[in-house]
Amino acid sequence: MQTNTDSGQPVIEISQVTTSFGDHIVHAGLDLDVRRAEIFALIGGSGSGKSTLLREMILLHRPDSGSIRVLGTDLHGIGDDETLALRRRYGVMFQQGGLFGSLTVAENVGLPLREHTDLPDTLIDEIAALKIAMTGLAPEAGLQYPSELSGGMMKRASLARALALDPELLFLDEPTAGLDPESAAGVDVLVRKLRDMFGLTIVMITHDLDLLWQVADRVAVLAEGKVQGIGSMVELEHMDNPAIRQFFDGPRG
Ligand code: ADP
Ligand code: MG
Repeated sequence: MQTNTDSGQPVIEISQVTTSFGDHIVHAGLDLDVRRAEIFALIGGSGSGKSTLLREMILLHRPDSGSIRVLGTDLHGIGDDETLALRRRYGVMFQQGGLFGSLTVAENVGLPLREHTDLPDTLIDEIAALKIAMTGLAPEAGLQYPSELSGGMMKRASLARALALDPELLFLDEPTAGLDPESAAGVDVLVRKLRDMFGLTIVMITHDLDLLWQVADRVAVLAEGKVQGIGSMVELEHMDNPAIRQFFDGPRG
């Protein structure tokens, strides 16, 4: 089991990040830290900049200004070699799954291993099978194509791929969106298991209040380009910021 020797140092440090698209300001000086081995959630209304922030943390988009450090690496001015090295250390489960339709589940899960390692095919197949099992999918699911999977199976297959390279850090964009309550409940258990058994740090975007109450150690509420509050669900529930209250009381966006 992985232990957390350097739990003092944040895994992600975001400081004064600003992002605009044209004259639309999405992040207006945003600060937050994610600690090692915590389950951290980003919440906020539709369009509040959650996915954009995630894209910035995984080097798919650059903020206009401010600083983002991930696993000790400053993303500003990062070179190609450092980018490659960093990408090996985190896994991402995208909102739409992001699996290749022309490949089976096992081939999708093996892809990061083919791209980033020199392991022989037989070993890659074994690792892929292991990751598929870790997410609770049956071994036969490895032979299926994404179009043959239910929503819940698709999420698990996508998670198996995110776990392929044994990441330290896992990003999940809306892991329970579109799932029936039963499949969604399985995701709680899975997320907690990944943290408790493997010491993964997990950053997730979600609107799912059940999931937040079940697994999130800390939650940051985004609105109007800023973090409006950050804390456990119990702490947030007692904050009187209107943007936070809206999340607990009002319709969800
Ligand atoms: P969330 O995930 O919180 O719903 P997003 O980060 O996806 O929000 O989007 C935040 C805002 O930025 C939205 O108004 C969205 O339309 C806009 N936006 C996101 N990506 C782009 C882009 N590539 N070009 C233009 N506008 C974008
Ligand atoms: Mg989004």
